[in-house]
Amino acid sequence: MQHLKCWVHPDIDAIGVCKSCGKGVCKECALTIRNETYCKTCVEASEVSVGKLKPVKPVVGRSGSITVASILFFIFGVVGFIGAITEIIYVFAKPFFAEVAIIGGIDFIVGLFTIYAGKLLWDNKKDGGIFGILMAVIALLIDLL
Ligand SMILES: [Zn+2]
Ligand SMILES: [Zn+2]
Repeated sequence: MQHLKCWVHPDIDAIGVCKSCGKGVCKECALTIRNETYCKTCVEASEVSVGKLKPVKPVVGRSGSITVASILFFIFGVVGFIGAITEIIYVFAKPFFAEVAIIGGIDFIVGLFTIYAGKLLWDNKKDGGIFGILMAVIALLIDLL
């Protein structure tokens, strides 16, 4: 038996069938709205013909692990940020420790970026994960110095 193909991409296997028009849709073309699969064409059409499929915008669920990771990045970022501020204050008190100022500055930036990575993940942007891990590695390396 032949696999059902996407109606937009006839050479790609369908992962589901549009609830509205009954055509096969591939991973790229499928939109999930309230646990039902639709094709992009039907969703776009529904944006014109009022409220057939509500909500019109596909609601992308955030998985639990991503939520946890983004919260961890937030905490990690805030901790790094606070650490950086104490380091900077310390340097103001004892201006001889120039290297602490440099570390403080890097921690400050890394902290900010880690919070940003958390925000990216929170918005379900997978790049945030890689970005956050990269920032965590940099922060660890700095602390090891
Ligand atoms: Zn459709
Ligand atoms: Zn397709």
